[in-house]
Amino acid sequence: MQNSPFSRLRFVLVETSHPGNVGSVARAMKTMGFSNLYLVNPRIADVVHHPEAIALASGATDILEAAVIVHTLQEALAGCELAAAVSARLREFSPPVLEPPEFAERFVQVTAGSASGFAALVFGNERTGLPNHLVEKCPFLVTIPANPDYSSLNLAQAAQVLAYVCRYQSKVAAVHGQEIGFKGSLANLADVDAMFEHLERGLIAIDFIDPASPKKLMSRLRRLFARTQLEVEEVNILRGMAKKMLDK
Ligand code: SAH
Repeated sequence: MQNSPFSRLRFVLVETSHPGNVGSVARAMKTMGFSNLYLVNPRIADVVHHPEAIALASGATDILEAAVIVHTLQEALAGCELAAAVSARLREFSPPVLEPPEFAERFVQVTAGSASGFAALVFGNERTGLPNHLVEKCPFLVTIPANPDYSSLNLAQAAQVLAYVCRYQSKVAAVHGQEIGFKGSLANLADVDAMFEHLERGLIAIDFIDPASPKKLMSRLRRLFARTQLEVEEVNILRGMAKKMLDK
């Protein structure tokens, strides 16, 4: 079913080291009905054919075979309207933090009923997690509130938790016929990103941002806008403002 929410959630693994984890994520996804696996620069280029990946995928080798391998996070997020960096670590300038059920509700909003958007969950490397510059590309950060003294889950187990809550929430929405209508269509993340770059240039042009000392202004603006879900028209308005600033 092309329009089903299950075909609209991407599991994006960034620079995964262990083939077994890639296989286990495929299995975690398939048990919950999801199938879109994206691998950003896996440490082993042909990881989907690695014996450990195949062994741990168990019966989910179809998901491995269909995995999309890309070089940048932007490619994995192309066409998405919602994305969350999945991380145990909270950071000073992180995007707004959601717990898994809160992410699942937003996922249902972009995929249920007449909505037809894509969403993504972005997982980090086993040892180093996700770097800040990639976290910033995601409007949200999802953290699994685990034991504060031992909060780092295995990558595939983190994927399993999120796959389950997203499945659960999709079922709830289907049963209750949740009608979630946006007035306009949600902007996709690449357009929102381009808007931020445009706005930054505009703010530099009117001397609001000093490029020699930009502070964290753009990170703060990203946080501000992440708390709302920008529609296409709103992104156009903001770009119009940026254009006027550049014309001055
Ligand atoms: N040492 C790494 C942990 C990596 S665990 C770090 O400090 O970030 C591998 C991946 O599993 C993480 O990048 C994250 O995507 C996911 N993960 C593990 N535990 C998690 C938790 N409690 N909440 C959210 N994601 C978690």
